[in-house]
Amino acid sequence: MPGAAATLPAVPGGLGAGSIHRFRKPAFAAMADIPVPRFDQFYRHPELTRLLRDYAAAAPNLVALSSLGKSFEGRDIWLLTITNQATGVDTDKPAFWVDGNIHAAELTASTACLYWLHQLVSGFETDPKIRQLLDTRVVYMAPRLNPDGAELALLPRPRHIRSSTRPYPYDEEPVDGLTIEDVDGDGRVLSMRIPDPHGPYKKHATEPRLMVPREPGEFGGEYYRVIPEGTLKNFDGLKITANPDREGLDLNRNFPAYWRQEFEQVGAGPYPTSEPEVRAMVDFVTRHPNIGAAVSFHTHSGVILRPMGTQSDDDMTPEDLWMYKRLSDIGAKLTGYPAISIFHEFKYHPKQTITGTQDWVYEHLGALFWTVEIWAPNKEAGITDYQWIEWYRDHPPEDDLKLLKWSDEQCAGQAYVDWQPFRHPQLGMVELGGWDRMNFWRNPPPHLREREAARFPAWLTQLALALPRLEVLRAEVRALGNDSWRIRFAVANSGYLPAYVTKRALERKTARGTVFDIHLPPGVTLVSGQERVVGAHLEGHAPKSSLQAFLPSREITGDRAVVEWVVSGERGTAIALSASADRAGTVRTEVTLD
Ligand SMILES: [Zn+2]
Repeated sequence: MPGAAATLPAVPGGLGAGSIHRFRKPAFAAMADIPVPRFDQFYRHPELTRLLRDYAAAAPNLVALSSLGKSFEGRDIWLLTITNQATGVDTDKPAFWVDGNIHAAELTASTACLYWLHQLVSGFETDPKIRQLLDTRVVYMAPRLNPDGAELALLPRPRHIRSSTRPYPYDEEPVDGLTIEDVDGDGRVLSMRIPDPHGPYKKHATEPRLMVPREPGEFGGEYYRVIPEGTLKNFDGLKITANPDREGLDLNRNFPAYWRQEFEQVGAGPYPTSEPEVRAMVDFVTRHPNIGAAVSFHTHSGVILRPMGTQSDDDMTPEDLWMYKRLSDIGAKLTGYPAISIFHEFKYHPKQTITGTQDWVYEHLGALFWTVEIWAPNKEAGITDYQWIEWYRDHPPEDDLKLLKWSDEQCAGQAYVDWQPFRHPQLGMVELGGWDRMNFWRNPPPHLREREAARFPAWLTQLALALPRLEVLRAEVRALGNDSWRIRFAVANSGYLPAYVTKRALERKTARGTVFDIHLPPGVTLVSGQERVVGAHLEGHAPKSSLQAFLPSREITGDRAVVEWVVSGERGTAIALSASADRAGTVRTEVTLD
């Protein structure tokens, strides 16, 4: 539903300047020392590390901190395993994956993760949904997948590269051209305005701060070039080319699904998972088949993106499309962000598809996946009908005037910086100013970060609670005489989603049916049945059709599976039984021959 007006979720405690520390400490004494993160500032790696350790120390029953691996520069890529450890180990529980900050400057993605972390930990004692979530499921959270790139963006004199800091494709300093960086040392990378009769921009007629495109065929006015702030090497007084960053990787193009070489996907790396940050995540997810759904946080656009990335909805498995639409619509309602298809509505170029995490997690693994692009300054300025990427290609100057007004009134004139004369080391007198893209476009300004992060937990929690979950329905023994016993073991999927989560998983054979095991102790032998039985794929309680449908579903108890064994053994012997379904978890029980 592109163009839908934003509706903010109700945030308890209200919003505003004084609301940063509005989380109250829980009454539960054992968790009295839960840290209270700041959402109006970004954490450098050592501070982030300390914060995450503090969570693990404050709530050791709920939060375990581990490292997914080391980044290119050797920083830990932190992973939080969030579940009530008293109700079982994480690997026995259905899992929800969430990550952020794979792109260096998209720091609010980390903020969104920390916000949910804090809500999960501080709400465990008081919020029944959070309690249910952490009792029955696990959240794997990687708040900063790309610590090196984020660190570079957080330096006092920052650089805003796309992703990680490994030089690629060439390890060499530029010898000439324009290097985009902060020239005047104010910590911002803005634009330079240079008068030029051949320039493509002019001052807006009534708002001279604003630069607008020259009309087709227009002549005789005062025109400008607007180029990124930066320094020039070997400038010949005529030609300027902006150098690409030496760190040319895009980690979100380095995943194994539909990986393509550099000539088709910029920043893809030399081969899939060549980069340590991506390999760390791919290894972990591969080793955790309990992950049934995932969200990656990015910035910006203020939109929820759903698969597929490479194919149209017409080519998508219909059952999966219907489920995606249903769960995405809930996301749109709860977050205020529209939910759209990547293939249909979020292409950087209409003739190109982009592939990344979403294609690997859904198209390869058959788990549910969404990308959330946090924050839309244009929506903030009252531009309600913008079309994501299309808007960046072209939009009316009226939109820019609205944005300028927003900068002046809501951001103390700092989102769009008024032009100031500056003596440039190579270009002579220029003017510095324009959009501060890092601090107001790629990320919300400090006073709005908490409000944006607060949009997501309700949806994430609902998604995680919809995951399939195996439960023991019945485990019983009947005496058949002569030390023979019939054992019946029944399990059910108590979740909304089927145990395989998506049809894609069945097509790709990435989820097995329910696997039953009988663990025979010494002295007990199997008379009939098999020690391991691979049973049916269990459905969930999501309705297949409405009650008015022409052909009601005939499968009434597709959520249940039963297995029977006949064993021979001495009365009083205990026998362990287990059942597992990759994405629905593992259950264990015991029966006694009696
Ligand atoms: Zn991104």
